Amino acid sequence: MVQYELPRLPYEYDELEPFIDKETMEIHHQKHHQSYVDGLNTSLEQIGGSSHPQYISSILSDLNSIPESGRNAINFFGGGFENHKLYWEIMTPDGTKFPSGKLEDAINVYFDSFENFKKIFSTKATTIQGSGWCWLVFNQTYNKIEIITTSNQTSPWTTQKIPLLGLDVWEHAYYLKYQNKRPDYVDAWWNVVNWDYVENRFSELTV
Ligand code: MN
Repeated sequence: MVQYELPRLPYEYDELEPFIDKETMEIHHQKHHQSYVDGLNTSLEQIGGSSHPQYISSILSDLNSIPESGRNAINFFGGGFENHKLYWEIMTPDGTKFPSGKLEDAINVYFDSFENFKKIFSTKATTIQGSGWCWLVFNQTYNKIEIITTSNQTSPWTTQKIPLLGLDVWEHAYYLKYQNKRPDYVDAWWNVVNWDYVENRFSELTV
């Protein structure tokens, strides 16, 4: 059976400094993300599921299709695997600071302005109780973009929403550098968002 593997980062551990520190990146990637990879492989084995690089988002979109005994574990470890895979990709040391093209237009339509979008997103991210994620998603049903939050490692795919941008607000994502100051981490994170990548994801959905 094919096993999921820890994806490579598209940059070095220290390249997001000073916004996200090297030690946090190393532990987050090598320990935390690895544990979701391992948990996903074990969970899939337990339910006799197959494994394919593109397949986990399909499973998350339709958790009822797998045996009930495996749903919680796949939700957690599969979500953790997929969420972190996206999280690494939507960051870059060479961020443009602003979205462009169709994504910029959509943000202006649904959130009035980029500044207002950032404000709403930051507020939602900082007020998540406990561990979770804040997302910009594409809602296929209504053909629009939305900001949503999820608890623990639950993926937007579980509600058939396509994640475009995701911010990890588990303490393991920021505690070494920012301690309890989640708002400072959220503010800093905007500096490393890879808007070109997010814009490409969005464009592919809305041809
Ligand atoms: Mn994490």
